[in-house]
Amino acid sequence: MRALSFLARRFVAGEQAADAVRAGERLQARGIRATFDLLGEDVLDREAARRCAQANADLLRLIPSGVERNVSIKLSNLGLDIDRAFCVEQTAQILAVAREVGGFVRIDMEGSQHTSATLEVFRELRRSFDNVGIVLQAYLHRTEADLRACLEHGDRVRLCKGAYSEPAATALQKMDDIRANYRKLARLLLERGNYPALATHDESLIQDALGYVREQAIPATRYEFQMLYGLRPKRWDELVAAGQNVRIYVPYGTHWLPYFYRRLRERKENVWFVLRGLFE
Ligand SMILES: Cc1cc2nc3c(=O)[nH]c(=O)nc-3n(C[C@H](O)[C@H](O)[C@H](O)COP(=O)(O)OP(=O)(O)OC[C@H]3O[C@@H](n4cnc5c(N)ncnc54)[C@H](O)[C@@H]3O)c2cc1C
Repeated sequence: MRALSFLARRFVAGEQAADAVRAGERLQARGIRATFDLLGEDVLDREAARRCAQANADLLRLIPSGVERNVSIKLSNLGLDIDRAFCVEQTAQILAVAREVGGFVRIDMEGSQHTSATLEVFRELRRSFDNVGIVLQAYLHRTEADLRACLEHGDRVRLCKGAYSEPAATALQKMDDIRANYRKLARLLLERGNYPALATHDESLIQDALGYVREQAIPATRYEFQMLYGLRPKRWDELVAAGQNVRIYVPYGTHWLPYFYRRLRERKENVWFVLRGLFE
């Protein structure tokens, strides 16, 4: 498909960096922050990883003042499966540009075959950089220990449920168990974390966090909620109106099709949205 289909536009900001920036400006005008995600191509060689690093650095420089310079990256797009030292080098280049422009870089968490390597690269980069954060997944059995280590180091953590298919030996399988673990870990982060991000569309988890911060008198400046571009947009405005910080994960780039299909598979509401669009 040559141009980004108008249906996918609900979930993807556009194919070009300038489209992502425009989406960020529109969000900013509503009092909502953004983190920008360049949708990945398959990175099998160093050249593709260098292109990814360069594109992220270019975006950080392109974002105008007034919009926060905040990107989310995946280490597998930066050579994690090719060579660890090379991946550290590419990621450090993005972090250096982010530092130059007062920006922040979030390292997304991928499937469990990448968890240890991702955390090790993050730990190495944290020795030289303050402007980098990590993602932890509530479904993994190991996550409470990883989270406690992050608390010790004062790391900035985004907590999500986890998006990959994982075996029972590695991850909780039942949604109720995942929710219970999310609630427990979110409370730890809200109590002791360094500006944690609670990434979820799950109303029961949002309500639990809001109840907990009220009860503990934790100010809204100490944490933020995060959601995906196109999902629950009315809820973003409600949270902002209630004095909460909200950041939206804004994907962009030419490799948008697999991301779009994932969003459709996730929820029947998303399919309805697309079907309605086809007939309107
Ligand atoms: C900002 C962000 C960053 C992420 N980064 C990562 C990452 O680095 N690694 C990773 O593995 N995963 C990541 N994820 C994905 C995450 O792990 C989950 O797969 C995804 O968010 C789905 O789980 P959920 O908690 O949002 O809600 P779901 O499990 O999809 O939904 C549960 C409940 O939420 C409510 N709900 C959901 N959508 C709606 C709606 N549209 N309207 C009304 N109610 C709704 C309903 O009550 C529903 O039953 C990220 C998610 C976000 C939001």
